[in-house]
Amino acid sequence: MKRHFDVLVVGAGSAGSVIASRLSEDRSCQVGLIEAGMMPSDPDIADPLKWTVLQGRTYDWAYRTVPQPFTANRVHEWPRGKIVGGSSCLHAMAYVRGHPDDFEPWAAAGGERWSFSGLLPGFVRSEAFTAFDAPSRGRSGPLDIYLPDTEVSPVVRAYMAAGQAMGIPVLTDHNSGELAGTSPNSLNIRAGKRLSVADAYLPPEVIERPNLALLTAHEVEHLVLKGQRATGVAVVCDGESMTISADRIVLCAGALSSPLILMRSGIGDADTLKQAGIRCLADRRDVGRNLQDHLLVLGNVYSTKKPLPPSRLQHSESLMYLHGSDPTRSTGSPDIVLACVVAPSAAEGLSAPPYGRLSRF
Ligand SMILES: Cc1cc2nc3c(=O)[nH]c(=O)nc-3n(C[C@H](O)[C@H](O)[C@H](O)COP(=O)(O)OP(=O)(O)OC[C@H]3O[C@@H](n4cnc5c(N)ncnc54)[C@H](O)[C@@H]3O)c2cc1C
Repeated sequence: MKRHFDVLVVGAGSAGSVIASRLSEDRSCQVGLIEAGMMPSDPDIADPLKWTVLQGRTYDWAYRTVPQPFTANRVHEWPRGKIVGGSSCLHAMAYVRGHPDDFEPWAAAGGERWSFSGLLPGFVRSEAFTAFDAPSRGRSGPLDIYLPDTEVSPVVRAYMAAGQAMGIPVLTDHNSGELAGTSPNSLNIRAGKRLSVADAYLPPEVIERPNLALLTAHEVEHLVLKGQRATGVAVVCDGESMTISADRIVLCAGALSSPLILMRSGIGDADTLKQAGIRCLADRRDVGRNLQDHLLVLGNVYSTKKPLPPSRLQHSESLMYLHGSDPTRSTGSPDIVLACVVAPSAAEGLSAPPYGRLSRF
C-alpha cells in the first residue's frame, strides 16, 4: 500500500468526506482518507425514522461525558459516528445553515472568507435544493436539501399555526435569511432515504478515483512531528502499527477526536499533557477546551384526544428558533430552539413511553 500522500485527510465523516472529495477533483493530487470505522452496511441507517435507534451500535463511538455540573452531575451518552459518513450516518438530518450573524466571530478570527457572505458560494455549490428558486440557493450540488410539504405531520402544522397565532414569524424554510420563526425542517433526505455526507460526496465514482485512497478500519493514534511540522500519522489497523506520511494533513476527526489526536501528539495545554504523561511539544491551552453542545432531548410528552398518524419523515419535523427575550422578533441570531417531535420523546437516552399509551409523568 502507498505510504505517502500529497494530502492526508483524517476522518471520513461529514467534513472529511467533503474535503477528500473536493481535493481529489485535481487528479494530480494524491489524497489519502483515513477512517477508523467501516463502510455503512446496516440498512437501518438509510431509514430516516430509525435514527433514534442507531446509537450504541458498533459504528457509534458511544462516548460518555464526565459528570456535568450544569446538569446535576449527570453523565451523558455522547453518540458519534465511527463509520464512513461519520456522525452524518447517525444524525437527525435537519439541514440548517445557521443565521448569518453566527458567522461573525469566525470572520473576526479568520477573515472575510469565513463570514456568511464569504461562505455563501460554498453553501450554494454544495446544495441540491429544488423546492423554490432563489439566488442564494444551490440547485445542482451533491447534497440534497429536501423541504417537505404534504408529508408534514398534522401535529407540526398545528404547532406552527399555534406559533403564528402567538405572533411568532412564519418562515418558508430555515435557510432563506432569517432564522427566528416556525418552519418545517429542511432535511438531508434523497428519495425517502437518509443522505449522509459520504453518500453525497463519496459516491462510488469518487471512491474509485485513482488518486483517492480510502483506508477504512485505520485508527490514527497521533501525528508524527519533525520539529514544528507534521509529516505523517501513526495508525493502527488490525492490531498492526504503521506510519503514513503526507505533505499536508487535514484533521477532520470531529470535535472530540481532532483535539484528542493533537493532544496525544504533544500539542495542547502543558499541564494537562503532563498529567497524562505526554511530552508537550507545543503549549496550546485552548486545544481540548471550550466544547459546547446541546442535550439531545429534554422533552415534555403530550397525549392527544384522538389517534394521530406517525411521522412520515424523521420524527423531529420542526425546529422553532426564537429570541428568549421577545419570541415575536424576526431578525438577528436567535438563542432558543424548540423542537416539535412527532413521537413520544422525553429525556435522557431518548427513552419515552410507547406510542399510544396514556401516561402520567
Ligand atoms: C444523534 C445526533 C443527531 C444529530 N442531529 C443533527 C441534525 O439534525 N442536524 C445537524 O446539522 N447536525 C446534527 N448532528 C451533528 C452532526 O452530525 C455533526 O455536527 C457533524 O456530523 C460533525 O461532523 P464532523 O466531520 O466534525 O465529525 P464526524 O461526522 O463525527 O466525523 C468524524 C470522523 O472521524 C473519524 N475518526 C475519529 N477519530 C478517528 C481516529 N483517531 N482515526 C481515524 N478516524 C477517526 C470518525 O470515525 C468519523 O467518521 C447530530 C449528531 C448526533 C450524534
